[in-house]
Amino acid sequence: MDDCIFCKIAAGEIPATVVYEDERVLAFEDLNPQMPVHALIIPKEHYANIGDGVPDDLMGHVFNTVKKVAEIEGIADSGYRVIVNTGSDAQQTVHHLHVHVLGGAPMNSGSP
Ligand code: 5GP
Ligand code: ZN
Repeated sequence: MDDCIFCKIAAGEIPATVVYEDERVLAFEDLNPQMPVHALIIPKEHYANIGDGVPDDLMGHVFNTVKKVAEIEGIADSGYRVIVNTGSDAQQTVHHLHVHVLGGAPMNSGSP
């Protein structure tokens, strides 16, 4: 996707603070962190969101990367929240599937 900012980050065309990388996923620090730890995990291949036909093995790999990122960030034991905003009501602003990993301090209830 030519105009996708996260594709550009995955391609190394836009800088990001990388937390973890392998052949299929990239994890990097959010530019505008909402918590002491706020990382994003993306598949390197472009999918608009969680409903965009992501292959099961890739989706599983993306979500299994959450634990690795939490360990690298030092929040695996204290706990963390995983959020995937999808579509307009959820205020998804970047239309390349990304998993937010938030932690580093106590959070409010997860209820809407
Ligand atoms: P969404 O609301 O789509 O779930 O979240 C998009 C997230 O991407 C936001 O938390 C925003 O701060 C982050 N973001 C947007 N542009 C960039 C960027 O160029 N670099 C990084 N590292 N994060 C970005
Ligand atoms: Zn993309």
